[in-house]
Amino acid sequence: MARCRAAAKDWGRDVADITLVAVSKTFGREEILPVLEAGQRVFGENRVQEAQGKWPELRQLYPDIELHLIGPLQSNKAADAVALFDVIETIDREKIAAALAKEMEKQGKAPRLLVQVNTGAEPQKAGVLPGETSAFVELCRKKYGLAIEGLMCIPPFEENPGPHFALLRKLAGELALEVLSMGMSADFETAIELGATHVRVGSAIFGQR
Ligand SMILES: *Cc1c(COP(=O)(O)O)cnc(C)c1O
Repeated sequence: MARCRAAAKDWGRDVADITLVAVSKTFGREEILPVLEAGQRVFGENRVQEAQGKWPELRQLYPDIELHLIGPLQSNKAADAVALFDVIETIDREKIAAALAKEMEKQGKAPRLLVQVNTGAEPQKAGVLPGETSAFVELCRKKYGLAIEGLMCIPPFEENPGPHFALLRKLAGELALEVLSMGMSADFETAIELGATHVRVGSAIFGQR
């Protein structure tokens, strides 16, 4: 958090506009509790099932926890995801949009929603392609009534992330979307420079996985 604050100051950003999402995947209650005790409330998990195993209990202790799903979602897990998460960052295909819309209606719950963009067009990576983002966001809005708040990306591991963050910001700007989830332990300072509203930081907080 101190590094986030410093980066915000360096780049002339208001620290209140940047949310630190502490990525607790693979870590258990013993490692998460001290981070909660330190005051952190926003956490990210990449697997629905793993999150179900630890967060309901931690939420009883800290009811104001905000949980983000940052990993790929399968449509058969949509019900569990809607029940557990406050923010789902990884909508990337129509089937998921449809499954989430149905579950949100059924459960009367409305997690906040982001679309994942595959900025590097990597074949193995989830996310809509940059050129398809606008049409996909429109589809989510018009056909499924989903209030998409922003975009998320994971740049290619071996590349300079800056151009990917800049591309995500440009796409969000064209769609008047305010939330930009980008930047991890290795590059969150660059992401803050380039407009991130949410940085997803795991190992810099919890240590190596
Ligand atoms: C694991 C993960 C992170 C955090 O990665 P670190 O390098 O540990 O900070 C961020 N975003 C996503 C989508 C992840 O899966």
